[in-house]
Amino acid sequence: MNRRSIRVRLAAWQAVILMAAFAVAGGGVWLAMRDSIYESVDEDLRARLALLEDGLNKAADTTGAGHVGGRPVNLVNLQATGPGTRFRISDGSRWIYQSPGAEKWGAEPLVPSALQEHGRARTLVIGGRPIRVLTAPASVADTVWAIQIGVPIGEFYKALNDVAWTVVLASPLVLLIASAGGYWMSKRALEPVDRITRTARAIGAENLAARLPLRGADDELDRLSETLNDMFARLDAAFRRVTQFTADASHELRTPVAIIRTTAELTRRRPRTESEYTEALDRILAESERTSRLIDDLLMLARSDAEGEEFALEPMDLAQSLREACEQGRVLADAAGLSFSVDLGSACPALGDPQALRRLFLILLDNAAKYTAPGGSVRVTMDVGPADAVIEVQDTGVGVGPEDLPHLFERFYRVGKDRSRARGGVGLGLSIAQRIATGHGGNISVQSEPGTGSTFRVRLPIVSPADRRPLDRLR
Ligand code: ADP
Repeated sequence: MNRRSIRVRLAAWQAVILMAAFAVAGGGVWLAMRDSIYESVDEDLRARLALLEDGLNKAADTTGAGHVGGRPVNLVNLQATGPGTRFRISDGSRWIYQSPGAEKWGAEPLVPSALQEHGRARTLVIGGRPIRVLTAPASVADTVWAIQIGVPIGEFYKALNDVAWTVVLASPLVLLIASAGGYWMSKRALEPVDRITRTARAIGAENLAARLPLRGADDELDRLSETLNDMFARLDAAFRRVTQFTADASHELRTPVAIIRTTAELTRRRPRTESEYTEALDRILAESERTSRLIDDLLMLARSDAEGEEFALEPMDLAQSLREACEQGRVLADAAGLSFSVDLGSACPALGDPQALRRLFLILLDNAAKYTAPGGSVRVTMDVGPADAVIEVQDTGVGVGPEDLPHLFERFYRVGKDRSRARGGVGLGLSIAQRIATGHGGNISVQSEPGTGSTFRVRLPIVSPADRRPLDRLR
């Protein structure tokens, strides 16, 4: 039995709480029983006291109150009080009469006027035996006396203590039963947790598709299983993405490396002319550049996955970055035989990484140039609102069908692999663009129609005019 397991601790706690409840309830019952015994004994004492008072008055009538000194009282005593009952009478200065044993209740004679009208009962322990004593004033003839009347209550106490001992002696058994019951109950309640643990432990990288079974009880444990299943689903999806990414990356890297290697091997087979060497080296160079670009892209995505935020944000002018990207975009558009127009407006302060944002704009401009047939047009606009700037890159190119649109920003996703490969793309550009936009607190979206053209829209937060002054100081 593992001492640290929840079930052992639950059972132990249950036993402790039960024992505490047992002790409190036992104590409470004991006190309540004692009080009820006192109540009936006190009632009995009062009745006896009344009888005694009555008898004394009768004796006083026949003998006169002044004569009541010893013997007449003794006679009354025999009639008025039952067996075991003792009493004594004080006139304030001395004890007029004391039954045998009553003198042990205290030496000082009681002053009648100092007593409560209805009397007071107390429990005295004389020689180890409990006695309930009622002290009250009594009117006999014209005098007021103080009378104490008491009965032994040892029997009641014995009965009470018998009950208490029964409870005390039974408690280890109760404790044992409670602990065993608690252990059994918690074991039953926690059994599904063990099952969840075993299944969860069995789910590894090779079987991430496995799920925890639900018991259909819709309780806390089913909800725990559901939460874990959701987590496994997310892990599974993330794991698949990573696996797919690695497979795609290796595939994309293999092609240029194979071209470089084959070109070098073929060229070396026999002596070549100078122009043949130059041509081979050019091809190798072009593939190497393509490879290192691809590696850079992969690195950037991998790093942003690992670190989350990798952009060094600084106060910058969004319009300026876009203008610089457009200069390169114009060159690309010219080369592709496209008309190119730009409408940017004035400066637009923002917090951003100028290099990354230039890259984002250039990816869109490069795509627009790549996927638009000669004679088409590319148009860039920037619209600045109170909180953000919207940059649009519009082209009249081949467009993208609705079945491809939702996947456009996925890594390595290409519409018609041949169409994209022929133009030198591997399908990473838009995922990088999206990463840059979200890394700046913005987003990117697309509208497109095959044969008509596409519009890529980037929304980026800007620095509102109210916040500009502290930013100017930063510059
Ligand atoms: P690539 O590097 O292959 O261009 P991207 O991630 O930039 O990769 O683009 C993914 C796919 O989206 C491309 O294969 C291309 O078919 C399509 N695409 C991107 N931009 C445009 C556009 N302006 N017009 C038409 N299709 C586009």
